[in-house]
Amino acid sequence: MRIESDLYLVGSGNMGFSLTDGFDCNIFLFDSGDGYVMFDAGTGMGMDAIWAVCRQEGIDPNRIDHLFLTHAHGDHGGGAAHVRDRTAVTVYAGADTARIVTAGDDDAVSLPAARAAGVYPADYVYRACTVDNVLATGDRVEIGALTVEYVPTPGHSHDHGSYLVTRGDRRYLVAGDAIFHGGRIVLQHTWDCSVPQSITTIQHLAGLDFDALLPGHLSFSMHNGKRHIETAMSVIAKLGCPPMLA
Ligand SMILES: [Zn+2]
Repeated sequence: MRIESDLYLVGSGNMGFSLTDGFDCNIFLFDSGDGYVMFDAGTGMGMDAIWAVCRQEGIDPNRIDHLFLTHAHGDHGGGAAHVRDRTAVTVYAGADTARIVTAGDDDAVSLPAARAAGVYPADYVYRACTVDNVLATGDRVEIGALTVEYVPTPGHSHDHGSYLVTRGDRRYLVAGDAIFHGGRIVLQHTWDCSVPQSITTIQHLAGLDFDALLPGHLSFSMHNGKRHIETAMSVIAKLGCPPMLA
């Protein structure tokens, strides 16, 4: 699905646009002018569908050269190994995500609990994938016309990071599961989910400058994306906790 020139949604599940596997997160793809840059990989169960969406849009998925992961959870990082099976991709993530994805650490992504809760099918397998480039706070990667900056955003999970993508005078926040449309968040009963960290993350995002908010589920906003952060901030200002996504 083409969102604007050189930006596509190539994967999205039931908590989104139902383009690909029902469990997939939103998967955004930028055409950098020097290869395609993918953000998050979905579960891996919808890879044929993701490839089909790319081809429908005239994108050669074999030219997906770069994959950035927001966090290791199965619906975002689980597909990384499957992308690597198909393309000569370079994978980027923050240090904790890199360690978990490279090890294929089921416990670190709360997979046994998630399977038991029906969040994933009982036979879902989380495959390890080597992360090539480990990013630290403020690290910037230049790819064609894009600059991609790593912004740690823990809270939803301890390893969570977002990406500020700049192209010309446009700035996009690829937010993963840090913040959603309407200022909502996803808190889970998992070992590393933290309300205080999530609030601190939103306060940090409120200080960043961007136009488009591209979250990991549900809708996105191409302009004035910061209004969703401001909605969450108005709740936080009253010592509240932003509402849950679902
Ligand atoms: Zn998650």
